[in-house]
Amino acid sequence: MKLIALPAFSDNYLWLWQQDQMAVVVDPGDAAPVLEALANLGLKLDAILVTHHHADHVGGVHELHHATGAKVFGPAREEVPAPFTPVMQGEQFDLLGQTVQVLDVPGHTAGHVAYFLPNAQLQPVLFCGDTLFSGGCGRIFEGTPAQMLASLDSLAALPANTQVCCAHEYTLSNLRFALTVEPSNTDLQTYMAHCQQLRAQYTPTLPAQLGTELQINPFLRARHPEVRHAVAQHAGLSALEQTDDVAVFAALREWKNDFR
Ligand code: ZN
Ligand code: FE
Repeated sequence: MKLIALPAFSDNYLWLWQQDQMAVVVDPGDAAPVLEALANLGLKLDAILVTHHHADHVGGVHELHHATGAKVFGPAREEVPAPFTPVMQGEQFDLLGQTVQVLDVPGHTAGHVAYFLPNAQLQPVLFCGDTLFSGGCGRIFEGTPAQMLASLDSLAALPANTQVCCAHEYTLSNLRFALTVEPSNTDLQTYMAHCQQLRAQYTPTLPAQLGTELQINPFLRARHPEVRHAVAQHAGLSALEQTDDVAVFAALREWKNDFR
């Protein structure tokens, strides 16, 4: 199994998962780069996985489905612009010899799902759409901070060697914010230098390792004393709010929304 990040728009990655002469694509916001990659690599598209309904994730689904006949899987509680198999938490199915488990991860959108491959060849693989980014998380457009925190908690509980395939290259700007929250986190300083090197060569910073994210991503560290303290200071939280995980997480997300 091979993972290929196809760049699209200004900062999206359309993830192509290749097995022999077959492929699965995740969140094809645009059909053109996928059709080009399939032609170049001589691959047949077996399936399309959709994490949520935003245009930069579903814009190419209709065209790809009609051009290739690939089956489509998508979140049961959202609209997908092609006939699709609706999936939700607890369900699993097989694609290209891999088990795909569905996780409900509401917050960015109300019905957002993630796809987890527990038995991928070398390491487990997670396709998490716009829920978890390297060094950050998605904006909360339709859900609540409590939902987003619970969704991130469920992803954080996956094996530490999971390869996290996020849908956007937001890593450097996320890490700039993370360093503002945790300036003395040495893992974070090291990871920033590593990612700066990758981006200087136009190399994706993804997939990220879940274990690394647990050390550097403030949205997975909202219960750490240092993060709590920084958020409380920035947002002027009351003593009661400072002990409330959701209040701290919500304030952290708002801090990031305003961060430039
Ligand atoms: Zn989105
Ligand atoms: Fe997106």
